[in-house]
Formats: sequence, C-alpha cells, structure tokens
Amino acid sequence: MIEELKLLWDLQKLDMEIMDLEKRISEYPSKKDRARNKLNEIKGELDIKLEEKERLLREKENKEKEIEQENQKIKNVEARLNYIKNQKDYLEIKKKIELAKKSNKLREDDVLKKMEEIDNIEKIVSELTQKHEKEEESISNIIKTLENEEKELESKKGLLLINRDELISKINKDMLSKYDFIRKNCRGIAVSRVNNETCEGCFMNVPPQLYNMVIKGDKIYQCPFCQRFLIYIKDDKKE
Ligand SMILES: [Zn+2]
Repeated sequence: MIEELKLLWDLQKLDMEIMDLEKRISEYPSKKDRARNKLNEIKGELDIKLEEKERLLREKENKEKEIEQENQKIKNVEARLNYIKNQKDYLEIKKKIELAKKSNKLREDDVLKKMEEIDNIEKIVSELTQKHEKEEESISNIIKTLENEEKELESKKGLLLINRDELISKINKDMLSKYDFIRKNCRGIAVSRVNNETCEGCFMNVPPQLYNMVIKGDKIYQCPFCQRFLIYIKDDKKE
C-alpha cells in the first residue's frame, strides 16, 4: 500500500475519534441543564408556596385590622348607649351592636382559619426548603462531575488535534483538500475499506478491475459511486 493512502487511513481513524469526542462533548450542556432543571423545579414549587404564605399573612393582617376598627366603633357606640332616652332608638342601636359583634365573630373565625392555613403552608415550606438544600448539594456534585468529564474529553480532543496537525503535515496539500472535500460530502468518512468487491462506505459493488487495482495498491483510487478513497486491508478485523 502506498504511504499516502496509509496516512489518509490514519487520518480517517483520527478524525473519527475526534468526531466521536465532539459528539460526546456536545451532549454536556444539555446534561447539565437537565440536572439544573430538577433543582429549578423544586425552587419554583417553593416560591409558589412562599408567595401563598405572604398572601395569607397579608389577608390575616387586614382582617385583624378590620376587627380592631370594628371593635373600636362598637365601643364608641356602646359608650353613647346610656345617654339614649328613647326606648325605640335604644333597642335599634342595641340590635346594630349585636349585628356588628356577630360580623366581627365571623372575621375572627376567618383569622383562625387563615392561621391554620399558614401553619400548614409553613410545614410545606420547611419541607421544600430542606429538599432544595439537599438537592442543591447533590446537583452541584453532579455538575462538578460532569464538568470534570467534559474537561477530560476536551483535553483528549486537544491531544488528538495535535496528532492530527502532525499527521497532515506529512500529507500532500491537494490530497488533503480532496480528503476534506469528500469528508464534508460523505458524512465525515473520506476513506472507505473495500472488501469482496464492495465499497464499505456506500455498499456498492466496485468493478472487478478496480477492485484488483486497489488490492495491488500502486495508486490511490476512488469509489466510482461515493467518491471515497478506497483502501484494501487484508485481515478482516476492523480497526
Ligand atoms: Zn463507495
């Protein structure tokens, strides 16, 4: 086999390794996002509960203010009650006071109900806060691990790129640009094995005469169907 074809074959193997690494590296952002999303979900749940608690506290406070104001009004009216001489007016005002007291009692019940709701929500908030803290720690560990893996793959890729530079410096420029062109148009594979008169790149049968010439290996030939460089490797084990 001529030296140049061997170099192209080695380059092909290297480029496949690089492609594989790039594919793996490209998966990392979404892997990290998935981990972060899990945490954001808990945070979202927690925020909703905290907002609900704030709302309940405001409502409770407003009710309590209303009760206080009403109580003050009732006291004022009651204080004037003794000065009313007219029996009819007296009874009417007395009735109004009773009604006002009843309304305030309803408000107090409402306040109690809200306090109960606030208690329940506080329990949920504290559970979610604990859950969030726990998840935060475990997720930050997961992300650290992912980042380390990513860095390792990047540095592997860096080494392969150095090897690649070294390798392509030995290959003729025209051949190299042909290689790049075929690679771009043939899903990243520019050199294809040929075996039993079949191109393994496109699975078409190559003419027997061409097949024999590739085996002889005195020149670089291309597949007439997919244009890939053809290489014959005697043993059957795939590299
Ligand atoms: Zn082919």
